[in-house]
Amino acid sequence: MPHRLTIHQARRLLLEKKISAVELTQAVLDRIRDVDERVGAYITLCEASALEQARKADRRIASGDPSPLTGIPVAVKDILCTRGIRTTCGSRILENFIPPYDATVIQRLEAAGVVIVGKTNMDEFAMGSSNEYSAFKLTRNPWDLSRIPGGSSGGSAAAVAADMCLGAIGSDTGGSVRQPASHCGVVGMKPTYGRVSRFGLVAFASSLDQVGPLAKCVHDNALLMKVIAGHDPKDSTSAPEPVPDYIQAFGKGLDGVTIGVPAEYRSMEGMDPEVSDAVSTAVETMERMGARCVEVSLPHTPYAVAAYYVIAPSEASSNLARYDGVKYGFRDPEAADLAGMYRQTRSKGFGPEVQRRIIIGTYCLSAGYYDAYYRKASQVRSLIIRDFKNAFESCRLLLSPVAPTPAFPIGEKVEDPLTMYLSDVFTLSANLAGIPGISVPCGFSGQGLPIGLQIMGNHFDEAMLYRAAHQFEQATDYHLKKPPLQ
Ligand code: GLN
Repeated sequence: MPHRLTIHQARRLLLEKKISAVELTQAVLDRIRDVDERVGAYITLCEASALEQARKADRRIASGDPSPLTGIPVAVKDILCTRGIRTTCGSRILENFIPPYDATVIQRLEAAGVVIVGKTNMDEFAMGSSNEYSAFKLTRNPWDLSRIPGGSSGGSAAAVAADMCLGAIGSDTGGSVRQPASHCGVVGMKPTYGRVSRFGLVAFASSLDQVGPLAKCVHDNALLMKVIAGHDPKDSTSAPEPVPDYIQAFGKGLDGVTIGVPAEYRSMEGMDPEVSDAVSTAVETMERMGARCVEVSLPHTPYAVAAYYVIAPSEASSNLARYDGVKYGFRDPEAADLAGMYRQTRSKGFGPEVQRRIIIGTYCLSAGYYDAYYRKASQVRSLIIRDFKNAFESCRLLLSPVAPTPAFPIGEKVEDPLTMYLSDVFTLSANLAGIPGISVPCGFSGQGLPIGLQIMGNHFDEAMLYRAAHQFEQATDYHLKKPPLQ
């Protein structure tokens, strides 16, 4: 069952010629055919081009010049532009949009010889935490098909968890890689702002958006990260910092590493005791591996949700102004005049959550309210950045839950946006501060649902996050369990 392999296992078999990239890709496509009707992870499958890329990968392996990812089947969130392949962002307004160019991340994956199997489902324009806001379909959690997979990169997380790809790419504006990774029991990394190019990533909130990998284990996640990270002249916010060898940093244990546990995160409203217990046990595990765990304070944590849900919609309202029915995407043909065309295109093309965000964002930026909302939220953001700066003076890493509860039932929060927003409380701050965060499996609920641990670190300290996450993974076996999906 080659679809069950991790990337590093598959890589060894490919190099030893025990399996070909075509066989591996075919196994993944067969697996998708078997289970995706139930899970709903993919919006678009790229069977023909995937097999073509696999044949190319086999030739490259035969010629003795493979990269660590050559021939590896990977899924990509439908928010990254893929030349010639429909890129919908989970929205009606882009239902038939075929980009004329590739995102830099796609270019890098293809240059490494990756096989792109398909584009995964997501909340419309990445706004959501459950995938229920996709305009096209529901994605179900492979661990329990009556529950959400998390969002907005829920399709990518479900595809990895259900072995419908060996790794995947998502994007994270307020938790959209980490939270679905946590709910689906896989490893998800939100890199430092600027670490990965955003060129060709359809913009949601440009000061918060980052592309990040999802994988079956920390090792695989780091392999994907190494390929997609690094400076890109096409993204002026991408950082020139060199990309370290993350795998090299694994072996060094946690002796002498100080890890902070934020006091504010202990008393969060709506915390499921099973999640707090799993995180407390994880703290003990880290201590057993040599880390020194200390309590730290992030005093402005209670304001993170409010600040994010002003800043992100404000940026979104501006970014989404381009979908006007004129340049590309859907246009309502029935309108009588230009103003009507704008109005009807946007009313029919955008779903209710996206419209809500555009309205909130436009309001927050409007003359007369800008100072009260957008400026205030930006000031709060500065205080949150300062909280992290202070914390990192006394510790190298921070530990927290990823989400306050395990995956919730489909339909539970979809009519109640505020409750949905509140479930992002542990992940938003990292985006506001631009710091990296990784989600690793750290337990299961009584009902058998995965629980994730978040490890955050200072800007560009991804290597340290990977090291701690890898050490933790070595000491536990949560990442080895598979969902009960036949
Ligand atoms: N759930 C958050 C939101 O809806 C985060 C989404 C994301 O990271 N893309 O804005």
